[in-house]
Amino acid sequence: MCHGPPHAAFLLDAVIGQRLVVGMVPDLETLDETLMQTALAEARNAASVDEVPIGALIFDPSSKTVVATGQNAPISLNDPCAHAEIQALRATGQAIGNYRLGGLWLYVTLEPCAMCAGAISHARIERLIYGASDPKGGAVEHGPRFFEQPTCHWRPQVTSGVLAEDSRVMLQSFFKARRKLKSTDD
Ligand code: ZN
Repeated sequence: MCHGPPHAAFLLDAVIGQRLVVGMVPDLETLDETLMQTALAEARNAASVDEVPIGALIFDPSSKTVVATGQNAPISLNDPCAHAEIQALRATGQAIGNYRLGGLWLYVTLEPCAMCAGAISHARIERLIYGASDPKGGAVEHGPRFFEQPTCHWRPQVTSGVLAEDSRVMLQSFFKARRKLKSTDD
């Protein structure tokens, strides 16, 4: 669907949370998986405070740095908009002092919803990389397919399915545990 950026060696030399090993990453696929691991760690953090486990991060391919991370937090923040992507976009805007995030890449563990797809477009994110598909709430390959609409004025390059199984298993076990908790409450 989209032309990917040229494959190149990336040196990851500055990372939030110290979760990535500093060193050369041989190709784009390895880079995507390495950064998705960090997004998955954010998702795990969300689950630890009873939020649906979804995590995101924003990467600057020119400086090879992670600019910001985000975890799903609508319940703890009393904010319906506090999805992982929005948290990461807001933190990045503050970090770089700009509402346009052109040239940056957004990694998220689950297919973005309509709100987040809209925000990604407004932010001019260059590349979107996500993990699991979300047939119920996704808006990239499901539902409104936001980036394909004529009213969408900025389309990122999209790579899907990166460590999708890890994300899917984490979500499934979260909901399974929550259902169990509910049934013992009754
Ligand atoms: Zn969302």
